[in-house]
Amino acid sequence: MIQVKNLVGGQFFSTEEVFDDISPINNTVIASVPRTKSVQSAVSAAEIAFEEWSKLSIEERCDWLDKIADGLEARIEEIAKLEALDTGKPIDVALNVDSKRSVNNFRFFAGFGRDLKNETFEMDDATNYVVRKPVGIVGLISPWNLPLYLLTWKIAPALLMGNVVIAKPSELTPLTAHLLGKICVEIGLPNGVLNIVNGYGPEIGQKIVEHPKIKAISFTGGTATGKQVAATAAPLFKKLSLELGGKNASIVLDDADLEIAVPGVLRASFLNSGQICLCGSRILVHSSLYESFLSRYLEELERFEIGPVISNQHREKILSYIELAKSEGGSIIFGGNVIEKAGAWIEPTVITDLSHKSRTATEEIFGPVVTIHSFDSDEEAIEMANSTEYGLAGSVWSRERGRTVAERIESGMVWVNTWLHRDLRVPFGGIKDSGVGREGGMWSIGFFSEAVNICVMED
Ligand code: NAD
Repeated sequence: MIQVKNLVGGQFFSTEEVFDDISPINNTVIASVPRTKSVQSAVSAAEIAFEEWSKLSIEERCDWLDKIADGLEARIEEIAKLEALDTGKPIDVALNVDSKRSVNNFRFFAGFGRDLKNETFEMDDATNYVVRKPVGIVGLISPWNLPLYLLTWKIAPALLMGNVVIAKPSELTPLTAHLLGKICVEIGLPNGVLNIVNGYGPEIGQKIVEHPKIKAISFTGGTATGKQVAATAAPLFKKLSLELGGKNASIVLDDADLEIAVPGVLRASFLNSGQICLCGSRILVHSSLYESFLSRYLEELERFEIGPVISNQHREKILSYIELAKSEGGSIIFGGNVIEKAGAWIEPTVITDLSHKSRTATEEIFGPVVTIHSFDSDEEAIEMANSTEYGLAGSVWSRERGRTVAERIESGMVWVNTWLHRDLRVPFGGIKDSGVGREGGMWSIGFFSEAVNICVMED
């Protein structure tokens, strides 16, 4: 049994009340987790740490980010094992997606920080220059699907810009954040620069969002929670970044190369058991390719390895959507059932014969469930893709017209003939109900700093 602890001011501690962390692989209890209800001690520790941390040069902070990356890299296998245990994902996904990206988040922002250019704007008679000041204490709240990957995506740029952090991992997946805390203590990161508090969202998460001394909130999670976070933070005039849910379309045009489209769309459907906000859970296929696409897709799906979903409770939600699909007239042509073994296992599920406006095809399920629809023209595909309240991501598969169609999809990110191909400099985020703001490269720098303009009149 792992004892997860909070990290506050460089000290590890638990709370009187703890709760169990359960592995979805076989329902065993793997850790006890503090049920923290107050954020005050973390705020006090962060306030003290801010004095020194914010005065370091950006180069010094880049060196710290590299040291954290080194510390994570040295434990890369351990991170993968913990992440696989906590989330149920296959170990190679945990290693190649989660662990590597967690290291790379620190590495990338260290390099990005060293390359930051002065921002100056000359006038005929004056010079403007921008000073990027830290925002202060920032609250970083993350979900369970890519636990360390998403938390470090926020921590690295926040620290780079001189902020001090109060981070809250998901209560379902606290193990790797705990390891990150241990690594930061081992490498001697100054006390209070990174504080990690564990507990339930409506308790400690809400306290973080409410605390007046926490000046920015970067939140990744569900749209309903995001609404609550926004309602709490907005009257306090906090900086707010919201990375929320999605219901992304994978669009296979009539000139698609099925050699790449089939494995690409399949990976977008079921990687991480479909529990990635960017997953393509609505597959739109041109009618001329529909039959050939479907038979190859189902054939390849037989060989696709997936783990369980995050919890029994989440599996119940997914099963309720499969029932809904049936009541909406859908045909379950693959899967649809629980896998009878201990843990939150469920078959990957493919549903056809539904309207693209049905609830199943427009609401986020966040599991290994896809709906497939056919269309007859690019116009129709675009209309179908845009017919949800979400606007996070999407992919277009086409030899010739990928860009033209991609630009008309109402989403923050669209891939053409690929999926989840990530350059960390580019803007990442959603429109419509998928969120507010962007992360990545300069967008993260902008969020985690206050840009102050100094205008100097020339003699
Ligand atoms: P969730 O909204 O239930 O929880 C996310 C985090 O918020 C958790 O740490 C939780 O404890 C905390 N939280 C809950 N209530 C809170 C409150 N009132 N105040 C502050 N914090 C609170 O989401 P989840 O189930 O953990 O994750 C799945 C969701 O995340 C899906 O909707 C998915 O699409 C979304 N997601 C989005 C992105 C993105 O980049 N847009 C990435 C990954 C996941």
